[in-house]
Amino acid sequence: MSQNLHARAERLIAQERVEGISTADQQWLRRHLADCPSCVAHAAATEQAIRSLRGLSVSLPPTLASRTQFRVRLRAEQLRSEPRWRIVWTACGISWAFGAATAPYVWRGLEWAGHRLGVPNVVWELGFGLWWALPAAVVAVILLMTDAGRSHEADWNRQAN
Ligand SMILES: [Zn+2]
Repeated sequence: MSQNLHARAERLIAQERVEGISTADQQWLRRHLADCPSCVAHAAATEQAIRSLRGLSVSLPPTLASRTQFRVRLRAEQLRSEPRWRIVWTACGISWAFGAATAPYVWRGLEWAGHRLGVPNVVWELGFGLWWALPAAVVAVILLMTDAGRSHEADWNRQAN
């Protein structure tokens, strides 16, 4: 038998499953299958593959889709907030480096001003502490605001579902 005939039969077997074939093609295929064991085997394998595919889609855990969705959304949220975090940490690093570099001058300046104004040492020392803590305080406020924004977003997502 010609190789073309088997190729045509295989094409029709697949096509019959997906989009259907004409009556003439069906008749031709039945006739071909009647005396072609290899195409019968191919048809059976196709049938088997389709059946196991259908079985697979039924036996998928129903939570899998929502879990996948959740993970994709989580990742998207992470990606969205990453640049913001990078900016915060960069600003943090720069301000701390700047703070460390200028600390001796600020200390001396405050000491001088404190003595000039005649305030107790504890006042200008406290001022130095505040100046030192200010970048950290600003960052803490930013982080708190970011967290508040994120949990608000989470609430919104929960309502949307
Ligand atoms: Zn054949």
